[in-house]
Amino acid sequence: MDSSQIPGFSTRAIHAGQDPDPSTGAVVTPIYQVSTYKQDGIGGFRSGYEYSRSANPTRTALEECLAALEGGGRGFAFASGLAGQDTVVRALLTSGDHVVVPSDAYGGTYRYFNTVARAQGIEHSVAPVADVDAVRAAIRPGTTKLVWVESPTNPLLGIADITAIAELAHEAGAVLVVDNTFATAYLQNPLSLGADVVTHSTTKYAGGHSDVVSGAVVTAQEVTVPGFEDVADRITFHQNAIGGVAGPFDSWLVLRGLKTLAVRMERHCDNAEAVVDFLTGHPAVASLLYPGLPDHPNHVVASKQMRRFGGMVSFLLAAGEEAAVAVCGATRLWTLGESLGGVESLIEHPGRMTHASVAGTELQVPANLVRLSVGIEDVDDLVADLDAALTAHA
Ligand code: PLP
Repeated sequence: MDSSQIPGFSTRAIHAGQDPDPSTGAVVTPIYQVSTYKQDGIGGFRSGYEYSRSANPTRTALEECLAALEGGGRGFAFASGLAGQDTVVRALLTSGDHVVVPSDAYGGTYRYFNTVARAQGIEHSVAPVADVDAVRAAIRPGTTKLVWVESPTNPLLGIADITAIAELAHEAGAVLVVDNTFATAYLQNPLSLGADVVTHSTTKYAGGHSDVVSGAVVTAQEVTVPGFEDVADRITFHQNAIGGVAGPFDSWLVLRGLKTLAVRMERHCDNAEAVVDFLTGHPAVASLLYPGLPDHPNHVVASKQMRRFGGMVSFLLAAGEEAAVAVCGATRLWTLGESLGGVESLIEHPGRMTHASVAGTELQVPANLVRLSVGIEDVDDLVADLDAALTAHA
């Protein structure tokens, strides 16, 4: 299909994979809360369904929608973001292979590579993904089979030049996987920039309402890296063989969340920009991290590859760690909590919360860092609450 015929983002979010239910006409895909399916004679599967670990109609609808939103070939839904990531690694790598992982990434991603993957003989090197030369230098010719990138990164909001890193990964015979959780499929499509696989914690913006833990993987329409042409088939096999799939109700919740992703992201971005305006030049703030700021080191790259700059904002407090901890505990409207991407605003101290698992490693985060997940409430209320907490504690 030429690109002028591809429906717009929200049309795909609302309709892709979601034709009215064939048996009842229900306009919303039902929750097929079922484990097994009647066969019309042995092997006579109706519409291909046999057992819900292999496939389930609610999950199929979500997987088709995810693929359509990322412009990919095939989508896969998992029980969590990490379950999807684990399936990708097991499907693509084997003992003796090497991975380049970001120096700034979700702590659980690093923990996975540093413990689980390492125990399976998969080695890794850490590189700042905002620095293309550093990524190139971290590649071990012949053994690096995968480059893992987050952009924007969690929690420092670094930006990777996805096009440039895709080129150098492919030159080295490695596949590029991009964790697109922070940007979402609405703000950025890594597959169109040359990535081979996209992952999401759909727990976050895709679900959008802090009521589900789930993950997604989407593969490119065509992967041409020698030895990896069958990436989608390998993930299909491993999704079923490992079994970390999204259940029907969780699939339904994410599918429902996706329908409003575009409008929510616009509002997340509007509110984040207003919060950034408030924090810019604030005397309590030593450094403000947001890819939309013209002085962000990779602002130009972010402008090229993202529609807008997202709903996550981080900052370093001039008064240090204890002040950062105090501010996180002092807000009333911003909820102190892990996770991100829901309609409600969250505040957290990454060093002691989401990134506590990387303390003492190369990924340790600054102790005076505060991370905001800017929700879609009335932004004047959000700013007033932040203002009060900063005035009292920083
Ligand atoms: N990737 C990023 C960027 C995340 O922030 C997270 C969780 O916070 C994950 C992956 C893991 O996702 P999940 O918690 O759904 O397993």
